[in-house]
Amino acid sequence: MTSQVMQVPDSVANPNSDATAKLLSKVPTGLLIGDKFVVGSNEPFNVTDPANGEVLTKVANAGVADLQKALDIAVVAQEKWAKTAPRVRGEVLRKTYELMIAQADDLAMLMSLENGKTLVDAKAEVTYAAEFFRWFSEEAVRIDGSIRNAPSGANRILTYKQPIGIAFLITPWNFPAAMYTRKVGAALAAGCAAILKPASETPLTALAISKIMLEAGALPGTVSVLQTNQPGPLTDAALSDERVGKLSFTGSTGIGKMLLKKAAERVLNCSMELGGNAPFIVLDDADIDAAIDGAMIAKMRNGGQACTAANRFFVQEKAHDEFVTKLAQRMGALKVGHGTSTDTSLAPLVNRKAVGSVGELVNDAISKGATQIVGGTPSPGPGCYFPATVLGNVSADAKIISEEVFGPVAAVVKVKDEAEALKISNKSEYGLAGYIYTKDLARGLRVSEALQVGMIGLNRGLVSDPSAPFGGVKQSGLGREGGYEGIDEYLEIKYVATNDF
Ligand code: NAP
Repeated sequence: MTSQVMQVPDSVANPNSDATAKLLSKVPTGLLIGDKFVVGSNEPFNVTDPANGEVLTKVANAGVADLQKALDIAVVAQEKWAKTAPRVRGEVLRKTYELMIAQADDLAMLMSLENGKTLVDAKAEVTYAAEFFRWFSEEAVRIDGSIRNAPSGANRILTYKQPIGIAFLITPWNFPAAMYTRKVGAALAAGCAAILKPASETPLTALAISKIMLEAGALPGTVSVLQTNQPGPLTDAALSDERVGKLSFTGSTGIGKMLLKKAAERVLNCSMELGGNAPFIVLDDADIDAAIDGAMIAKMRNGGQACTAANRFFVQEKAHDEFVTKLAQRMGALKVGHGTSTDTSLAPLVNRKAVGSVGELVNDAISKGATQIVGGTPSPGPGCYFPATVLGNVSADAKIISEEVFGPVAAVVKVKDEAEALKISNKSEYGLAGYIYTKDLARGLRVSEALQVGMIGLNRGLVSDPSAPFGGVKQSGLGREGGYEGIDEYLEIKYVATNDF
C-alpha cells in the first residue's frame, strides 16, 4: 500500500474577520451572575483562534468570591424555581430551543472561532444542542412518582421525585454548546439551579447561550456562568459548599477521578461523563462502503476530538485491505483550512498541547512498527493543525490502542475473527462507545452484547441523540445524560410509608 503525504499549514488567517468583529461585539464577556454579566475577581484571560493563535477577545475570570455571589443568588432562585409549575419551566426551555435555532448561524460561527471546528460540525452541534432544550422541555412535565402496596398489605409506599438542589456543572471545550444544554436543560427541567464552569478554551459559546436563556425568560440565578482559567480553587470551594447538591462533570477520566475523590468528602451526588477509546469493528460480511461512510463520521466528527470518536479500527482479514485503501482515500481528500471557511473539512485541533499529544501517540505507534498510510507533519504553530492520518499494522502494545487519541488519527488492526476483535476492544479501561459493521443482524447483536461499552452504533457511525441515554461503563463514567434517564440525575427519590387507608 503506497503512503500519501498530507500537508497542513502553520497558520491560517481568519477569512471572515469583519463578520467576526461584528459577532463578537454582541457576545457577553462577563461572568453571568443573576441577570447581569459582570467582571470577575481574577484578571481577565484571552480566548484565541486555534487556526492562528490570534486573540479573539478577553473574558472575565471567576474566583472563589464570584462563586459565593452566584451561590447566594442561586439558593433563592432554586427555591422559587422548584415551586414553579413544571409546564412553565418547560416553556422557558422550549423558548430557549426556538431562539437557539433562530440564532443558529451566529452560534455556529462563534463556536467555530473559539474551538476551531468546521462550520459544518458547528451547525450540526447547534441543532443537537438546542434539541436537548426541546427534549427536556417535554420531560419537565413528566416527573412522576408511584403508589405501591407493601407485600404485607399493612401499608402503602408512596414515592415521588424532588429536585436535588444547586448543580455545579463542568463542561469541556470539544462540544461547548451540547455539553452545556445536555446538563443545564436537564437540571432546569428538574427544578434545580445550575452553576456552570465552561472550559477556559471555549467560554463564549456558553455565554452566548446564557444570554439567550435570559431572553427566553429563565429566572435570574437559575443559571450562572463562571468561566475561569483557575478551575482548581473554584471547584474545590463549590464541592465543599453545603449549598451545592450535585456535581456533573464532562471531561477527561483523570480530572474526573480527582473530582470524585474530592466529592467523596461530602458524599456529593456525582454524574461523570469521561473519556473514551471507541473500537470500530468491521466484520468480513460488512458493507464496506457503508462502513467507510460510518467511519468518517465516527472518526472525523469534530476532527476526531469527540469522546465517542472511533479510534481503534479492528477489521477482519477478508475486509481489511479494501477498508484500509478506501479509508485512506477519504482521509487524504479532506480539505484543510480555517474552521469558518465553508469548504473546510479538516479544521485545526483546539490548541498546541493537543497537537503535541496526538503526535506522541502517532510516533509511538510508528516506532512499534505501524505504517503511516496517510499522514504528514503537524504544523509547528502558531496554528494547531494535525494532518489526517491512517496507521496500518498497528501493534497491540502501541499506546494508541490503550490511550485516547483526541485527533484525526485512525489506527487499524487486522483481526482474525470477532472473538479477537472483542478481546482487544474489551481490554480497554474505557467503555464509552463502540461501532460494529456487519450485514448479519444476529451477529451484530451478539457482538453488541459482548462489547463492554455504554453505547453502540450498529451499522451506524453516530450514537449521540438527545432522546437516548448517553454514557459509559468502566472508567468512562457514571450516570446517563439525555433520554428519559437524563432528568433523573437531578432528582432524588423520596419515599413515604403510610398505614393502610
Ligand atoms: P479536561 O482537561 O478534563 O477538562 C474538562 C473540564 O474540566 C474543563 O472545563 C476544565 O477546565 C476542567 N478542569 C480541568 N482541571 C480542573 C480542576 N483541577 N478542577 C476542576 N475542573 C478542572 O478535558 P478536556 O481536555 O477539556 O476534554 C476532553 C476530554 O473530555 C476527553 O477525555 C473526552 O473523551 C472527554 N469528553 C467526554 C464526554 C462524555 O460525554 N463522556 C464528552 C465530551 C468530552 P479548563 O478548561 O480551565 O482546563
